[in-house]
Amino acid sequence: MKRIFLLLLGLLLLSGCQPQKHDSQTFAMDTIMQFTAYGPKGQQALAHASARVQELDQLFSVTRSTSEIYAVNHAQGEPVALSEDTARLLAQSLELCSQTGGALDITAYPAVRAWGFTTGDYQVPSADELSALAAQIDYTQVELTENQVRLPDGMELDFGAVAKGYTGEVLAQELRELGVESAILTLGGNVQTIGSRPGGDPWRIGVQDPEGDGYLMVLSLVDQAAVTSGGYQRFFDADGERYWHIMDPASAAPARSGLTSVTIVGDSGTQCDGLSTALFVLGWEDAAGFWREHQGFDAVLVDEDGRIAITAGLEDRYVLGPGYEDRTVEVIRP
Ligand code: AMP
Ligand code: MG
Repeated sequence: MKRIFLLLLGLLLLSGCQPQKHDSQTFAMDTIMQFTAYGPKGQQALAHASARVQELDQLFSVTRSTSEIYAVNHAQGEPVALSEDTARLLAQSLELCSQTGGALDITAYPAVRAWGFTTGDYQVPSADELSALAAQIDYTQVELTENQVRLPDGMELDFGAVAKGYTGEVLAQELRELGVESAILTLGGNVQTIGSRPGGDPWRIGVQDPEGDGYLMVLSLVDQAAVTSGGYQRFFDADGERYWHIMDPASAAPARSGLTSVTIVGDSGTQCDGLSTALFVLGWEDAAGFWREHQGFDAVLVDEDGRIAITAGLEDRYVLGPGYEDRTVEVIRP
């Protein structure tokens, strides 16, 4: 009898030690988002997260006619007042556009649309059309004063390359403020972690093989974001060619840098998201050069020959995935 009592007591204590797990799923920004939070504050925090995501989607959507970005894109050269979130993301994005020498350019939207990536009605624009589109992509023409923006008529903004990273970063901050110490937010190819796993181990994030279904490697993360941009994520095939959704602003055509995926790991989700897109456009050598010059983040590069490189900060934070144990990983050093 006493033994059964002790056993029950043990079980009770054990389950008491295990923080409660809360899950939620929401659809926003064209993505199924999956949130998991542990602990007593989890449920309430996830309800907040879902509402907040919908709010940000409503601001940033480029297609929804009621969004703030839609209003900016249809203002015909007139200034538009911005919400705090839009002003903040716009300022951070313009900074990343400038840092990456325009490899990231949030005014690439007319090109994205001309290829059909906004509707799924895919087409290959003519060479003339592409040079006209390329001539119009130019983030330096965006005039942002504190909370007001003005675009030249015909220019259109698109937060597609940064919105999910920003959203993950904002959610992480707000969930921490709501008392969450352990959570993982998956927003498509964007993963944002809060703290570590219950028990203290780091979160483990898989880097997808751009050519297959498996995970090339698994990264350890605590309190950071990991964001992947890859040509395999959205594309169409025509006349034996593959065309993807990441544009080279210089040509208004899908970026062919030789890279097939770029994963960025860092403290700021917005920076990770912007840089994953930009470094994909820049290609292997320039991406490595950008990291050497700026640091403050880490990267995994994969190219079309299956070469894999990581920056030095990830050296002790990765293992090769199941089935990929024999792959060589180059290390990019400062
Ligand atoms: P991501 O998946 O984060 O790499 O972002 C790709 C999305 O950002 C595309 O679907 C476009 O909406 C937009 N985009 C494509 N190319 C660029 C670019 N070079 N700079 C900024 N945004 C881009
Ligand atoms: Mg991005």
